[in-house]
Amino acid sequence: MNKKETCYYCGENATSSEHVPPKCIFPEFKDLNYNYRKNLITVPSCNKHNMLKSQDDEYLLRILTAGHKPNNIGVDHFSTKVMRAFQHSPDRFSKFMINPKQILVKQNDQLFESLVFYVDINRYHLILKYVAKGLFFYDYSRMFSGEILILYNGLLHKSDNSKNELYNDIDNGIKALLKDVPYKGENKDVFKYKFLQSDNTYILRYEFYDYFGITIKMAE
Ligand SMILES: [Zn+2]
Repeated sequence: MNKKETCYYCGENATSSEHVPPKCIFPEFKDLNYNYRKNLITVPSCNKHNMLKSQDDEYLLRILTAGHKPNNIGVDHFSTKVMRAFQHSPDRFSKFMINPKQILVKQNDQLFESLVFYVDINRYHLILKYVAKGLFFYDYSRMFSGEILILYNGLLHKSDNSKNELYNDIDNGIKALLKDVPYKGENKDVFKYKFLQSDNTYILRYEFYDYFGITIKMAE
């Protein structure tokens, strides 16, 4: 007998499926001439938790590709898909790139130039939590209903470089803690993830374009 499918986010009856992370993160073949959409992860979703997010999906994509140091796939994805959307509507660009500013960032004792801009942090964190709940559902075949805490959101600090160095140290510490857990995902150059479970606590790390790492604690 088929079990009735329920939404990964709220547990109501599912009416469709949702990509985790959003499909737009993965470049299309027509743009990069390579298939970066192999076996994308989907989870069952109700109407509310699928439809709600199309604007947010694009917002996430722009943050991830406009930031510092993505791999070539991230750079090419920005110069094709993201730029196309901006050229189509210049207004969209100015609404997205709020208060842009160039800064120098220190990473692994090297300085490099980067661009910072204002990010709607509540919106961004909500999207990260959607992705976390989706991945949890996919791996553990049930809805996660505990507390979700974002330990590291991958963003640079706007004006305080010492904070960026601190974030970097935290991120490196988390990476070391999780180093023996292999990453999962069929398109690892675009997106990969792993869970470290200890009793009712899960540490989730996921990474976009080889540089944009997010670490989340999920506790039941
Ligand atoms: Zn739902």
